[in-house]
Amino acid sequence: MASTDVRVHLACDGCEAAAWIGRSPGGAGLDAWCEACQIGVHVPAGEPTPACVTCGGPLATAMPRFVETWGALQRLDGALRAWDGDPEPLARQLPVRPRFVSDLTPPADRAGDPEPLAALLADVRAGRWTEALERTGLDGDPRAHGALAIAHERRGDAAAAAKQWAVALAAGEWEQARLSRGSLLARGADFKNAAADFALAGDSPAARWNRASLEVHRALAKTPGRPDAHAIAAARATAGEAPEFWSEPTVGRLAWDLLAERTLARREAGEFTDFDLQVLREAEDLFEHASFWDRAMILVTYSRLELTGDVGRIAMPVAREQASALLAEPAMKGAPFAPFAAAVTASYDAAVRREPRAAWRALYLWMRDERLQRYRLPCAACLRGSVGVEGFEGGPAGEESPGA
Ligand SMILES: [Zn+2]
Ligand SMILES: [Zn+2]
Repeated sequence: MASTDVRVHLACDGCEAAAWIGRSPGGAGLDAWCEACQIGVHVPAGEPTPACVTCGGPLATAMPRFVETWGALQRLDGALRAWDGDPEPLARQLPVRPRFVSDLTPPADRAGDPEPLAALLADVRAGRWTEALERTGLDGDPRAHGALAIAHERRGDAAAAAKQWAVALAAGEWEQARLSRGSLLARGADFKNAAADFALAGDSPAARWNRASLEVHRALAKTPGRPDAHAIAAARATAGEAPEFWSEPTVGRLAWDLLAERTLARREAGEFTDFDLQVLREAEDLFEHASFWDRAMILVTYSRLELTGDVGRIAMPVAREQASALLAEPAMKGAPFAPFAAAVTASYDAAVRREPRAAWRALYLWMRDERLQRYRLPCAACLRGSVGVEGFEGGPAGEESPGA
């Protein structure tokens, strides 16, 4: 929620049960809601939000937490299946992080641009790649070549895109062109020419990341063996502070990914040795963060390599943590979710016994639950329908928006 003035509308799809969460109309306090009991409570202005009088749990005063249940259940199931030898359900949840970042922002137009150029730039801004590439009569403005490069890259023709960026650069330095052509070269493993472009790509976060990414690729270029510690240190210095957000690339995440790819290829080729395993274990320390997503990357790698002992070492604490976090959710304390809470408890207990198969099987029916898949929760009022977010009201523009 961008604004605390946004009100969340909840409703059941099987009965009349409904509620609002958020600032009351006219600013007279808050409408709060208990996710366990599914009852609303009005909190007068200036008073602290109390606990639920019925269950003693916390009250939601903005977006309720139950909408996250489906994601949390998938993470737990994915970790358990990877532990049980099937890494793919977890692997599919991992974000695809860019190794080299481009900038495909269409060039701006200027007053007095000749008609063919103005039309080309308009095409590219609107995503009409085919029309853009059919334009003729363009003069030598570098922006025309930049726009054509973007259209080529959007259509998946990297070679044609690189050629257009080169023509644009022949007319003079342009950081966006350096960044974008450098990324194309780097993706094609031409690190030497990519480095030359990135050196002139400016100091934007994207340019710094690309330079750091090149260092990481170089750190892992010698196979087999440990990543070059000096190159990793240089990459960290170039990249700056590592973002924690789950889908952001970091030096540690990229280094692990490259090492995992390399190790899997060596295993395919029958070259995997104890030394590879040792290098991989040491590389766990490359991660800047220990979030679920970071440990999931390690877990997927060990599971793909069928390294049972290492899989269990990583998976057990991850699974316990995910199950505990789910059980701590306010909605889990309510009667409608009691069967689900019992299933998660059974899963947790099986994980503690180191029985990943029993642990994911305990969740099997809930992984197929259509209410959870729609980010809803069983309704306490009718026990047949499900409660979900039906829409929002208010916010900066004071508009009402339809339900998702
Ligand atoms: Zn209902
Ligand atoms: Zn309650």
